[in-house]
Amino acid sequence: MSKILIHGARILGGEPGDVLIDGETVAEVAASLDAPDATVIEAAGQVLLPGLVDLHTHLREPGREDSETVLTGTRAAAAGGFTAVHAMANTFPVADTAGVVEQVWRLGRESGYCDVQPVGAVTVGLEGRQLAELGAMHDSAAAVKIFSDDGKCVDDAVIMRRALEYVKAFDGVVAQHAQEPRLTEGAQMNEGVVSAELGLGGWPAVAEESIIARDVLLAAHVGSRLHVCHLSTAGSVEIVRWAKSKGWNVTAEVTPHHLLLTDELVRSYNPVYKVNPPLRTEADVLALREALADGTIDCVATDHAPHPHEDKDCEWAAAAMGMVGLETALSVVQQTMVDTGLIDWAGVADRMSFRPAAIGRLEGHGRPVSPGEPANLTLVDPAYRGAVDPAGFASRSRNTPYEGRELPGRVTHTFLRGRATVVDGKLA
Ligand SMILES: [Zn+2]
Repeated sequence: MSKILIHGARILGGEPGDVLIDGETVAEVAASLDAPDATVIEAAGQVLLPGLVDLHTHLREPGREDSETVLTGTRAAAAGGFTAVHAMANTFPVADTAGVVEQVWRLGRESGYCDVQPVGAVTVGLEGRQLAELGAMHDSAAAVKIFSDDGKCVDDAVIMRRALEYVKAFDGVVAQHAQEPRLTEGAQMNEGVVSAELGLGGWPAVAEESIIARDVLLAAHVGSRLHVCHLSTAGSVEIVRWAKSKGWNVTAEVTPHHLLLTDELVRSYNPVYKVNPPLRTEADVLALREALADGTIDCVATDHAPHPHEDKDCEWAAAAMGMVGLETALSVVQQTMVDTGLIDWAGVADRMSFRPAAIGRLEGHGRPVSPGEPANLTLVDPAYRGAVDPAGFASRSRNTPYEGRELPGRVTHTFLRGRATVVDGKLA
């Protein structure tokens, strides 16, 4: 078996140390190690993190391979420092049966770049009427633990209640895309000053907050686990904070773009800023950062949503919603959370690896950098500064809101069970 010695990296941002990888496992961690037979990676000044885990990735396969495949999406994930991603169910066909989730899971294993944990649909065809085969998806080889109709809201309270009751039997979780459909009919952007000035249909904060409020009450009533996807408003933070203060089993995620960008950008009418939930206000951004720092929001999830050029390069109203995020997530988190002093690198490990893995009940990921643990690791150079160039993306799609923007930090190495998937910033 091959041995790799990572020399002088700051482990979780702490003191520099040495980490020896032997085969698929972390063999030793110490201030200084000797391993004459190991390949040495000089990592002075770099930060060693547990491999990142994404709870919310759209890999698009099966059905929309023109925007992404499991292979291209997992390559993008590795480039961004991820060793596991959860693949959302809104594919064609929808991942609402054991057959489809097993197919996605197998394609992930074959890719070799990043583990893929499929998310199962809550309802058949994401249509919100009839529960999908939750038990069969859980019992399949894919062992689905997270269920979501993401892209659509499970707006029927009875269906939501039944889903929460059903997943309780196997410690599953329902991940809700909180969007009251009637309140967002024709919505094009956040409802507020900018939407009024531009005359675009508004997407009120209450459309998100009312569903979250209902769902935390339902989860408490049933005694089940609720996860709130891509929380985007200050009011949503308050509701989750209240639910947690009650001791209810509620977790929440925020996307990198909601930590950085505001609805002021929509004035450009550039559809790259069109996303669901929409970019909100500066006050919302600051509330989300604070909530991620104080633990009200558990984790960062990318909502990586690749779209082909023709679906984004059109007028605002016609453009698809969503942006790619896997390859820029860590840099955006560094800029908004670490460089601002809100959290340290141990906090990044917590919000981007430990907690998402725990929410997904994912084994082998989100583990401490300790002997005997699987060698799922990411090396970051936090001193790096560079402008984002989508031409260099591993993703099949280019719909990033950060083109040309200078962001800090760069993933130099990613290891999936001891195999280097990224070496010196390039896919291996
Ligand atoms: Zn969503």
